[in-house]
Amino acid sequence: MTTILSANLGYPRIGEKREWKKAIEAFWQGDISEQSLKAQTKNLRLNNLKKQKEQGIDLIPTGDFSFYDHVLDTAVAFNIIPERFQHHDPTDLASYFAIARGETNAVAAEMTKWFNTNYHYIVPELSGTSPKLIENRALYYYQEAKEELDIDGKPVIVGPVTFVKLAKGYQEDELESWLNRLLPLYEQVLNELAAAGASWVQIDEPILGTNLSEKEIQLVEQVYQSIDNNVSGIQIILQTYFETVQHYQRITALPVKGIGLDFVHGDHLELIQKFGFPSDKVLGAGIINGRNVWRANLEEKYQFLQNIQQAANPETLIVQPSCSLLHVPVTKHLEEKLDTVVKDGLSFANEKLEELQILTTALQAGKQSVADAFKASQQAIAKLDQSEYRSQTPTIAKHKAKREISFAERKKLQQASLNLPLLPTTTIGSLPQTPQVKRTRTKWRKGEISDQAYEEFIGSETRRWIQIQEDLDLDVLVHGEFERNDMVEYFGEKLKGFAVTEFGWVQSYGSRCVKPPLLAGNVEWEKAITVKEIAYAQSLTDRPVKGMLTGPVTILNWSFVHEELPRFTVQDQIALALEKEVLALEEAGINIIQVDEPALREGLPLDRLKWPAYFDAAVNAFQLATATVKSETQIHTHMCYSEFGEIYEAIDGLDVDVISIETSRSHGEMVETFEKNDYKKDIGLGVYDIHSPRVPTLQELEVNIKRALETIDVEQFWINPDCGLKTRRETETIAALEKMVEAAKKIREQYTTIKQQ
Ligand code: GLN
Ligand code: ZN
Repeated sequence: MTTILSANLGYPRIGEKREWKKAIEAFWQGDISEQSLKAQTKNLRLNNLKKQKEQGIDLIPTGDFSFYDHVLDTAVAFNIIPERFQHHDPTDLASYFAIARGETNAVAAEMTKWFNTNYHYIVPELSGTSPKLIENRALYYYQEAKEELDIDGKPVIVGPVTFVKLAKGYQEDELESWLNRLLPLYEQVLNELAAAGASWVQIDEPILGTNLSEKEIQLVEQVYQSIDNNVSGIQIILQTYFETVQHYQRITALPVKGIGLDFVHGDHLELIQKFGFPSDKVLGAGIINGRNVWRANLEEKYQFLQNIQQAANPETLIVQPSCSLLHVPVTKHLEEKLDTVVKDGLSFANEKLEELQILTTALQAGKQSVADAFKASQQAIAKLDQSEYRSQTPTIAKHKAKREISFAERKKLQQASLNLPLLPTTTIGSLPQTPQVKRTRTKWRKGEISDQAYEEFIGSETRRWIQIQEDLDLDVLVHGEFERNDMVEYFGEKLKGFAVTEFGWVQSYGSRCVKPPLLAGNVEWEKAITVKEIAYAQSLTDRPVKGMLTGPVTILNWSFVHEELPRFTVQDQIALALEKEVLALEEAGINIIQVDEPALREGLPLDRLKWPAYFDAAVNAFQLATATVKSETQIHTHMCYSEFGEIYEAIDGLDVDVISIETSRSHGEMVETFEKNDYKKDIGLGVYDIHSPRVPTLQELEVNIKRALETIDVEQFWINPDCGLKTRRETETIAALEKMVEAAKKIREQYTTIKQQ
């Protein structure tokens, strides 16, 4: 008889009302002491554990808490500190935050997206470090849960292979030697946990869902063999997620007690049916979607679990989410403004724990014991299905859109009308959202100030910043996005088919959270969304103001799309809605329109075999949205952390006139891509990092620009910061932009003199 248990893989850190974020930011501002930060976050952490205990979860994760990012935590615990931060005491919280955020004399560590999610981790830099275990965090948090709450938790740690693969600062053929250096440290962590009485540990190896080479999978085998030889007294669950594991048979044969698989995003049932599952192992069945907020169809999930149980027949079956619940908001209960049909259809982290518990009970005691819960889930899903959200299905044109003439020809026409200087300067769109902007928005949302007063205020900020941008002498201006809370949520609020929450926040990077809209049904454009604000900004200046939209791929990726909707069809629906907006902007006299696609890279499936279909759909949607403008209209796009090399062809296929890419934390690597490829269209590589409060020096900026100009034609190059500026303070923003324009002018002049000679 299979034993049935329930487990969680990780709980959101941020708190129901983002208490975590607020505490950390207050500490950064110097408003609260380190002691107070620690006390507040401990309180939250313990509350989170308590909730899971109350929900009856058997295996509760510990050590999933972080002050910023769990990959950074792992690095710091192993003394893997970038050289430029090594003068600090590595156990100091200030040092930890310095790595994440940079400091006056040292740029922050690179940040990039965690697999195909919008969560960003800090990239460990291995070169120049001497790994040793400086603190066993897993042990600390395990003991805390035990002592404070009598919870015998399941420590969660980032696995060695995933950790080293995600790190940088070593050559490919050094993977093995780095694993060998870190293994003893991992083994020490595990032995100490065992000695403290931990019975389970969850080792996360999401890298197993990517395409590993034969050599790499052999290394995985060596690593877990070594752990098996050198660690005793603790049962390891090797946890994978986000994709079907490659090398299923070899992974399930590893000498670990349990294997956790994602059954929502992977075809693991088929693999089990085909190859079986070791009968002496524990199977972690990731059945509740940890990447989505929609209620599960419990009846279907129950059937599915039974199929798994039948096919695998494991010693123990653990009912768990598909991945950590870090990627979903905390609870839907705070939502008061949502349509009931939508609210009933939702399940955030706490509700997912409930679903897990219901399914566990159903397997243990028969489904009659939870018949009411099953019925409620079915009814909620049916109601949404019959609601107005799904009423008419807009037909998707099967056509492909293409710009009428080639880029080279367009460039001439655009230059003739825009008349921009060499190395044009611009920004990515958003400008600092001061406390006053946020306060005013909150007041307006609460109905404390009128629509008119709010619009007045937004207009005055726009006016002020058009002036500032002119004074800075930027060439292409932006309206500043003051009216937007978030680049996706804003469109979600205005397009039909979406719903937005009040508290549905998820962590994006560091203390920064986003609130993805809910995509419940068919998407339609009802009326102009951005034209008023942008046309107003344009009316204030003779310089071009960029229209600013979020692209279809990003809106799709950063929304919680109902699982019953076909993703690519929805993406096309969004694209056609955006096309209407693009044309409305053009009609209003806007000559440059930027359609941001920062999520294009992260949306890539982990399995490369699925890439062509993804790219096809992405390129098609982007073009549906943008290609029907006049040739004179300049289309821009912006992307964050796009490892350009891998997605080069798709980017070229978007056929945008200008692309700006975030690169300042990995500038060298990006420029290398251009050495290999001959990209012809205009491009702006971010010349300074906006995720850090640090103001760049003139010299740094010049170095970045010149390095780029070694490989990119000066006629092609634009000068801009890495990303939008909304999270920065006004003074630091102005100071940085001043330097940026100064650097651009200096270099521009050098080129102009060369030309004249
Ligand atoms: N236009 C957006 C902004 O500046 C782009 C943000 C992003 O790339 N994530 O805020
Ligand atoms: Zn960006």
